Amino acid sequence: MTASLTAGPVDATRSPAATLRTLAGGAVMFEDGLWARRQAVNRAAALPHGLRMLETAGNLDNLRIAAGRATGRFRGRVFMDSDVYKWLEAAAFEMARVPSAELSKSCDTLIELVAAAQGDDGYINSYYTVAEPGRRWTDLTHGHELYCLGHMLQAALAFRRGTGDDRLLAIATRFVDLVHSVFGPGRRETTDGHAEIEMALVELYRETGERRHLDLAVFFLEQRGRGRIGPNRHDSPAAFQDRVPVREATTVEGHAVRALYLTTGAADVYLETGDAALRQTLTRQWEDMVEGKLYLTGGVGARHLAESFGHPYELPSDLAYSETCGAIASLMWSWRMLLATGQARYADLIERTLYNVILGGVSLDGQGYFYVNPLASDGEVEHLHRGGPRRKPWHLVACCPPNVMRLLASLGHYVATHDDSGLQIHQYAAARIKAPGVTLGMETDYPWEGRVWLTVEEASAAARTLTLRVPGWCTGASVRVNDRAAAGAEAAGGYVRLERTWSRGDVVELDLPMPARYVEAHPWIESTRGCVAIERGPLVYCLEQSDHPSVRLADLEIDAGAPLAAAWEPDRLDGVAVVRAHGREIDTGAWQQRLYRPLGSAPPAARRPIALTAIPYYAWANREPGAMRVWMPRAEDRA
Ligand SMILES: [Zn+2]
Repeated sequence: MTASLTAGPVDATRSPAATLRTLAGGAVMFEDGLWARRQAVNRAAALPHGLRMLETAGNLDNLRIAAGRATGRFRGRVFMDSDVYKWLEAAAFEMARVPSAELSKSCDTLIELVAAAQGDDGYINSYYTVAEPGRRWTDLTHGHELYCLGHMLQAALAFRRGTGDDRLLAIATRFVDLVHSVFGPGRRETTDGHAEIEMALVELYRETGERRHLDLAVFFLEQRGRGRIGPNRHDSPAAFQDRVPVREATTVEGHAVRALYLTTGAADVYLETGDAALRQTLTRQWEDMVEGKLYLTGGVGARHLAESFGHPYELPSDLAYSETCGAIASLMWSWRMLLATGQARYADLIERTLYNVILGGVSLDGQGYFYVNPLASDGEVEHLHRGGPRRKPWHLVACCPPNVMRLLASLGHYVATHDDSGLQIHQYAAARIKAPGVTLGMETDYPWEGRVWLTVEEASAAARTLTLRVPGWCTGASVRVNDRAAAGAEAAGGYVRLERTWSRGDVVELDLPMPARYVEAHPWIESTRGCVAIERGPLVYCLEQSDHPSVRLADLEIDAGAPLAAAWEPDRLDGVAVVRAHGREIDTGAWQQRLYRPLGSAPPAARRPIALTAIPYYAWANREPGAMRVWMPRAEDRA
């Protein structure tokens, strides 16, 4: 096994405004537990499945036609190429983690195909080459040409950093050179419809040191807010983040994935430039999101309409859009904010988003994907749109599946950081961490148990600080060093700091008590009034029909005064801790077929006690299709 990556998706090792620096790629390798298992499924099942889907959906044929190797019509949407690049990025990180001759062969074929589809001037986009020749750069709002290039660049950097293969980077760089000749101050000034190029250009700058790439990223950011997009029948400036200049934004608004890819790119620019106004804006926008527009699962983008953020507190449970890509975008943004500030709240949101909505976006077998991630479902198949109680093998707009694949393959990147004083651990999983000055073994059954043992395997002679995040959900955390209560442990702002001269064999034991708990929502959220949800550790729980076969979930209330009890069930859903609760089943029979009736026209419905079993939200929809709900009405309020 090799871990040859020089860097992960973000190389903030030299970023001037970074408070925390990223570790080298491969510095964190999962060894056991939930994340190791999800990575193994991602490798063994999801990546081969994804490649088959790229073939059947037409993505590869589109490139073959563009390369003159096949004939036929372009299939799918304008951004089909981006799915190929995201798959390649996932494969590159996966091969860096554990080499694979099979993946390597597939990547060779795909990279060669992309090279063949490249025009003499460097341009690549199968849609415009095949379906609308001669019309490139004519519809920046919807065309996704720069978006596709951004994903190509990220894949190219993953190959360079992960496997040392520069072929895709050479292809992408030729295209970037073309883009430099078309766009920029004194050249074409325009607003792109879907952010992505910004973060990719900053990453290219980090890799090459060429300032012009950072400058172009700043240029694209600063094109925002000039009112070029809409308003018309389909587009509004807000939907496309074109309502106000980036430094004047106070909210997250419009299309959620676009909005958060933009803030991610802006945060990248901040890390490289230290632009204080940008940091202020991003902080304000992030707070706007978590204070009014965030689901309990970490999901964002409430509205199906235009896939957009809703108003503050507009967070319907059953009609939640909460696109998987929106959650991934939120994670990417929060990671950069964490690097910028060192504040635990960003790592807290990464954890919530990762364990709930992102992990729920993919089936346990790695071959089914949610596009939307509601917090309640009646179990009926949705015929009209992307929802429903079943993950699909692929989607007509297939942005989410390969996005999950690339994130899982590079997940070790988001666990820890370092600075001049030492190492910071933000996420817990059984893993080995190799950082400057220290190598640690991390043992834990997280997220099922809150005990974490860190064993020093190698350490430099100097005093160093080991910083451990205490999650925001946790109370009563404690730390012991070599079996003694840690003297001099300083706790501040969600982190415990342990400074000493570490030696081989030192053991730090972190205990994060995680009893199951009830959560309530702000009363202004309409859909969750009078309800509670269950959480345990970083996991949000739900009730699913499969565990309550003889009742209708809509007939259930939960007794939030009764204790909760967690139980490990190795054979359920690949091994989960379930949470047992108490509730009542309401007899709704007296309603017959009526939807409404005068209040008091019928005697109170009979209620019978019932035992409830909650499962982690991420694991729902892996058995027979059925109803699910995160938020449950409280029994005592209605007795
Ligand atoms: Zn998506």
